[in-house]
Amino acid sequence: MKKSSKVAFLCAAGVLGALNVKKAIDFVPKKEDYGILDPENVDSVRAQNNLSKAISFATVSRENKDDVDFSEFDKFHEFLEEAYPLIHKNLKKEVICEASLIYKWEGKCKDLDPIALLAHQDVVPISPGTEENWTYPPFSGYNDGTFIWGRGALDMKNHLIGVLEAVETLLSEGFEPERDVYLLFGQDEEISCNEDGGAMNIMRYLKERDIHLDCVLDEGGAILPVNVDYVLKNKNLVGIGIGEKGYCDIKITVFNKGGHSSQAPKHNALGDLADVINDLENHQFKAEMMPFIVNLFDAMGRNCTFPVRMVACHFKKMLPVMKAVMKEIPPAASLIRTTTGVTMASGSPAPNVLPQKASIVVNFRPMPGTSIEDVVNHIKKVVRNKNIEIEVIRSREASVFSPTDSRAFNILKKLIMQEDKDNVVAPYLVMGGTDSYNYQPICENIYRYAPYKVSVDLLLTTHGTNERIPISAIEPGVAFFKRYIRKASAEV
Ligand SMILES: [Zn+2]
Repeated sequence: MKKSSKVAFLCAAGVLGALNVKKAIDFVPKKEDYGILDPENVDSVRAQNNLSKAISFATVSRENKDDVDFSEFDKFHEFLEEAYPLIHKNLKKEVICEASLIYKWEGKCKDLDPIALLAHQDVVPISPGTEENWTYPPFSGYNDGTFIWGRGALDMKNHLIGVLEAVETLLSEGFEPERDVYLLFGQDEEISCNEDGGAMNIMRYLKERDIHLDCVLDEGGAILPVNVDYVLKNKNLVGIGIGEKGYCDIKITVFNKGGHSSQAPKHNALGDLADVINDLENHQFKAEMMPFIVNLFDAMGRNCTFPVRMVACHFKKMLPVMKAVMKEIPPAASLIRTTTGVTMASGSPAPNVLPQKASIVVNFRPMPGTSIEDVVNHIKKVVRNKNIEIEVIRSREASVFSPTDSRAFNILKKLIMQEDKDNVVAPYLVMGGTDSYNYQPICENIYRYAPYKVSVDLLLTTHGTNERIPISAIEPGVAFFKRYIRKASAEV
């Protein structure tokens, strides 16, 4: 290279480098003045005691309704009446579907749409044989001064008690909402994927009364501390769930000649079935970087440390590469496409009998925008064997996305940012189902968020052994619900 060309090249590289540094410097969270939170009066000891007591009722939901011990729900309701006298004096309560609770707190303005706060009363059972693995018994609600232990401590008696504590305190302070406030506590979220569930019936109860909700808040993303060296330092990831993936179990059966296994042909029904599995696994659904994923990367990228931001600030140009990488990592892939999981298989009934038919069950989790019908059409398209039988055994369509510019979303985001400037708020997609899904016919603004700061390790105890909540998370949770109810129940 000639000297002059070398100088030109170095100058150009320098200018580009400087521009990149400038871009990375500017790639920070958008400057918004969220203001400061006023301190909130919370009776922390009462909240802890009531959560402990709430956990002691084994409100376990079971697939078979006859196996549910409704006396535990009755006792739980009696406890709530004693623990929250102002709520039971000032709000109208109804019990439907045996144990689902509807509380209505009348607002001052009848022409405004009400708001709703959801929580489910039920918990999952303890896996047989694991009872002894618990440090403290699962229905003890034991408070060791650091944690409250027991089934439902995170999913989600913490949330239910948090809401009730907030309302009881607001009543004691003389607060009167402008909008009606509904507290809606179903009794079978952990098992219901059907039309008869508590949440679906509560929604119908409201719909029959011509009630359209301004917004719904249900369980969802917690406040997750993250501290990745050189990348994301001392931040909290806070997801507000704006949608839910669908659910679909499909049985696929292939047919072939049976016969004696001593005279087996080269391929029988199971061999054909293996081809079906290969076709499904080799032809995954198309991945798509939806707007919520772009928002998520944007929010995270702006909060990264400076050297990482030199790369992160170009993330939009790198979306195709990121998509390719995410497709190879199952938890990441589940955020960007409908997933395909072959889970069960069956062949002939005996070791020496060739199968006349063989079947698999495939669990699909459709993305919002992909219907169950789309899934069936996908199977028909990618499986080369056209002599198959397809049966949808169980399904639930994906939800629609709730908007990220609604009044309720903005209230949530602002409260979360006011709480801690190191919170990184981003909308996200909920993998499992929640009761809030059932409210889509009467509400467009459905959000899933749990105002509890909990480490990933602790979060993994949900549905498992030693489920527990840090005491330190309880008071901020109640304070959040108080502030949220005050803001969301206002006219604007
Ligand atoms: Zn739950």
